[in-house]
Formats: sequence, C-alpha cells, structure tokens
Amino acid sequence: MLIDTYGRVATDLRVSLTDRCNLRCTYCMPEEGLQWLAKPDLLTDDEIVRLIRIAVTSLGIEEVRFTGGEPLLRPGLVGIVERCAALAPRPKMSLTTNGIGLKRTAKALKEAGLDRVNVSLDTLRPDVFKTLTRRDRHHDVLEGLEAARDAGLTPVKVNTVLMPGLNDDEAPDLLAWAVENDYELRFIEQMPLDAQHGWKRDGMITAGDILTSLRTRFELTEEGSEQRGSAPAERWLVDGGPHRVGVIASVTRPFCSACDRTRLTADGQVRTCLFATEETDLRVALRAEDSADEEIARIWKLAMWGKKAGSGLDDPSFLQPERPMSAIGG
Ligand code: SAM
Ligand code: SF4
Repeated sequence: MLIDTYGRVATDLRVSLTDRCNLRCTYCMPEEGLQWLAKPDLLTDDEIVRLIRIAVTSLGIEEVRFTGGEPLLRPGLVGIVERCAALAPRPKMSLTTNGIGLKRTAKALKEAGLDRVNVSLDTLRPDVFKTLTRRDRHHDVLEGLEAARDAGLTPVKVNTVLMPGLNDDEAPDLLAWAVENDYELRFIEQMPLDAQHGWKRDGMITAGDILTSLRTRFELTEEGSEQRGSAPAERWLVDGGPHRVGVIASVTRPFCSACDRTRLTADGQVRTCLFATEETDLRVALRAEDSADEEIARIWKLAMWGKKAGSGLDDPSFLQPERPMSAIGG
C-alpha cells in the first residue's frame, strides 16, 4: 500500500506520457514552448508499463490516468493502454487530453481498454480559443469530444479553466452546451503552475465566482460529501439533475486531507503532489543492472511516506515548483 504519515492512501496514479504539447495555453506554457525533456531521459513504453504493473499489483493502485503535456502525442499510447488493461487486477483507466487527434484515436483507445476521457476546452468561441491556446484548433477539439462520446469513452468530462477578461463570461453558456451534448463539465481554478509564473491570486476566477455566474441561469443543488469522497471536484446537480457540474477549487477550497494521488512524470520521477518541490527518482532503479520490482516498490512507498500535509498554497513562504504543469502531468 502507498500510505503517508497522515494516514492517506494513494489509489490513483497519474502518469505523464510526455511533456510536449501541440497547444500553448496561456495558463500553462509560454508561446515559444519549453525546453523539452531529452529523449534518453523519457521512460520507454516498457518502463511505463512495468511501473504501472508494480503500482497495480504491489502498491494498491486502482485507477490510472494518462496525461501530459499532450498524451495523444505519445506514439505508443494505444499499446500502453492495451498492456495495462491486461494487468490483474485491471486498473480503471482514463486520459486527460486537449482532444486534438482524438477523432482518429478514440475508437482504438476504447478497444484497447480505456474507460473514459477528460477533454480540456475553455471556450465555445473559436477566436477566444485561438487567443487562449495560441492555436486555431477549436474545431478539432469539438470533433474529438464527439468521437470520444460516440466511442463510448463515457462519461466524457470537459475540463475548463476560466481566465479573467478572456472567457470568464462563458460559464453558463458552457454549462448549457455541456448539458445539451451530454458532457460533464468541471471548472478548474487556475493554479500557480504555469511556466511563466504569471499566476496572480488577486485576479483569478474563484469557485465562488463560477457558482455565482452559473446560478444566474441554473438551479444548482450540492451533492452530499459522501459522493465527493476523495474526488477533487465538488459537484452540483443542474436543475435537479441528472446532469452535474463540478468545480475543482484547488486554490480556494483545497482538498489535500482527502488526497488519494501519486504521480509519475514522463522521465520517471515520483511526485506526491502537484505542488511538491521534491521528487523521487524511479528511473535509476528501473535501469539498474540488478533492477528489482521490490526495490522500486520500496522507493515509491518511501516517497509516499514523505508526502506533505498540504499544497502549501496558503503559506506565505509558498514556492511554485520548478516543473510547470505540462511537465508534471495535470
Ligand atoms: N494537454 C492535456 C490537456 O490539456 O488536457 C493534458 C495535460 S493538462 C496540463 C491537464 C489539465 O490541466 C488541463 O485540463 C488544463 O486545463 C489544466 N491546467 C493546465 N495548467 C493549469 C493551471 N495553471 N491551473 C489550472 N489548471 C491547469
Ligand atoms: Fe498543452 Fe494541456 Fe498545457 Fe494546454 S493545458 S498547453 S493543452 S499541456
């Protein structure tokens, strides 16, 4: 089991498959991109599957989410999913993606064993999409979403970040669109994880702002805390249900005490938190001549034992981690 000194148990593993991306969302990456991880440092498909096997068979991981960067840019993605689906016990598997290219791969991913997707989309307006992501690919994302729903990668969730002055007036329109298309919308508060260090607490759109805006058009009924469990999204029934909307308020209503996550970067580092400033190397143990699963499991458990109580966001001494969101795996 992966357990920490506060008694939290990690059952949910986030695996970053690449730090590269074909968009440049302003809250995530600078226009010119970043210094990408060097190829030899990236875990191979075999190494990723081995780590997931260890996590599932020896460490109590029940759910695996593939992310990045943009995970659809990883050539071996379908094969990785297929091999993980053959593990016993079989983990639940999902993917967080910007949706570009999903039209082509949704069916193959479903057939390989992927259960669900989260697609990120911040706006219904193509011009705003271009400003926010610095790429003219709005239509591709909409097509990717439809393909995911048609392939049965359901419930399809849509992740939305609202940025002041850009798309913060769109919350009700986005919810109406999501309800109509049978997507579950989840707003994520902007976090200080952008490579440019441009985040400002004063300017950010809070969960409170989002709910106020949604309530101008919808009746929202909060779901009980049992339903929330360790899921970071607080959820509301929309106009009595069955559709729901979620808000992930990592900044203003953190959920660290119920966190059940552990993270693996594309270059084989364990991170116990998005905001961790320390990482634990698994790649060296993976590539050692006498590499043993037991040793890797031991290192992973030790990393988990050192997990901090919270993100530290509210601490005046808070320091943004060196790795940006795209290289951690959001
Ligand atoms: N490229 C994929 C995507 O965009 O879905 C997966 C990686 S991305 C880092 C994962 C999620 O993190 C996306 O939903 C994105 O909107 C969100 N994200 C990125 N930077 C963020 C930030 N600074 N604050 C809050 N969410 C952020
Ligand atoms: Fe790429 Fe996702 Fe970051 Fe946007 S949020 S730049 S799609 S990694």
